[in-house]
Amino acid sequence: MVTSPPAMPTKGRVLIIGATGFIGKFVAEESLISAHPTYLLVRPGPLNPSKDAIVKNFQDKGAIVIHGVINNKDFVEKILKEYEIDIVISAIGAKSLLDQLILVEAMKSVKTIKRFLPSEFGHDVYKADPVEPGLTMYKEKRLVRRVVEESGIPYTNICCNSIASWPYYDNCHPSQLPPPLDQLQIYGHGNVKAYFVDGIDIGKFTMKVVDDARTVNKNVHFRPSNNCYSINELASLWEKKIGLTIPRVTISEDDLLAVAAENCIPRSIVASFTHDIFIKGCQVNFNIDGLGDVEISTLYPDEAFRSLEDCFEGFALMIDDKINKGENKITGTKSVVEAVPFTASCG
Ligand code: NDP
Repeated sequence: MVTSPPAMPTKGRVLIIGATGFIGKFVAEESLISAHPTYLLVRPGPLNPSKDAIVKNFQDKGAIVIHGVINNKDFVEKILKEYEIDIVISAIGAKSLLDQLILVEAMKSVKTIKRFLPSEFGHDVYKADPVEPGLTMYKEKRLVRRVVEESGIPYTNICCNSIASWPYYDNCHPSQLPPPLDQLQIYGHGNVKAYFVDGIDIGKFTMKVVDDARTVNKNVHFRPSNNCYSINELASLWEKKIGLTIPRVTISEDDLLAVAAENCIPRSIVASFTHDIFIKGCQVNFNIDGLGDVEISTLYPDEAFRSLEDCFEGFALMIDDKINKGENKITGTKSVVEAVPFTASCG
C-alpha cells in the first residue's frame, strides 16, 4: 500500500505593519522567503513611487496587501479574524508607536494571536536609558511593552542593536549611506563597543523567532560576536577596505549632548542614542542572564551573521561603482550617495 507523505505543517499567517518602512521591508522580504503566508497592512491613500514599487514587488512575491491603519480597533479585529492571522509583527515608525496600543486591544479581543512582535528593533528599552529626546521614544516603547505583557498575548521583543553601517549621529537610517571619505567622526575616546547587524539578518532572524517556542515572552538580543566593534575599530576597518587614511575628528560627549538638546527631530533623537551607545555603552554594559532574555546565537548556533567586513566591502563597491560611472569624485561621502531625506522639526 502506498502511503502519502505526512502533510507539511503550514506556517503561521503573518501580518506585517510597516512593510514600506526601513525595518519592515527586511522583515516582509524574509517572511515571503520563509514561506509564511504574508499579509501587509498598508496605509490607504497614494503612496510615493518608491513605496508603491516596494508594495508591488511584495505582491509579485505573493504578499496579500490589506489597506488600513492599526489605530482603528474594529477594522483590525475584522482583518485579524477574516485572514485568520496567527502572528503580528509591527515595524511601525517612531512617530506612531502609541498607535500599537489600539492594535493590542484588537489582538486581545480576538484571542487568537499566537505571537506579537512590537516595534522594537533596537535596544532593550527597559535597560537602555538615553537622554531626551530619545528617552521619550523609549518611554513610549516601554509603555507598549507593559501593555503587551499585561494583555497575555505571547510576545517577543527583538533587540537587534545597531544597523550594520557607519553610525552617523544625525541620520536615522545610516545604512543607506556609505561610511565617510572626508572625515571620520569618533565619539568620545572611541573605544566603547557596539553590535552591528545587517538589515537582511534582522529580517532573517526575526522570522526565525516568530514560531520558535523558546522565544515566547522573551527579549531576543542580537549580539553577533564577529560584529562587535568600537568606532575606532570601525574607522580602521573602513580605511583598510578603501585603502585610504582619513582624518579623524573627535565628537565629544558634550557635542552629542548639545545636538540632543537642540530637540530637532529626528536628528536629536539619533544623537541621544549615539551618546547612549558610544559614550555610555548601553549595548554592552549588561549581561544576558535574566529569565526573560536570550541571545540569538545560543538559539541558532549554526547560523552565521553577515560580517561587518562584508557589509563595508559592499559600501566600498558602491562607491567604486559611482566613481566609475563618473557620478562623483572620491571626496565627501554625502555627495556620492544621497542621504535619506527626513523631515526635521525642532522644538
Ligand atoms: P519607518 O518610518 O521607516 O516606517 C514606518 C512604517 O510604519 C511605514 O511603513 C508606515 O507607513 C507605517 N505606519 C506608520 N503609522 C501607521 C499606522 N497607523 N498604521 C499602519 N502603518 C503605519 O520606520 P523604521 O523602519 O525607521 O522604524 C521601525 C522600528 O525600527 C522602530 O521601532 C525604530 O525605532 C526601529 N529602528 C531601528 C533601527 C536600528 O538601527 N536598530 C534603525 C531604524 C529604526 P507609510 O509608508 O504609510 O508611512
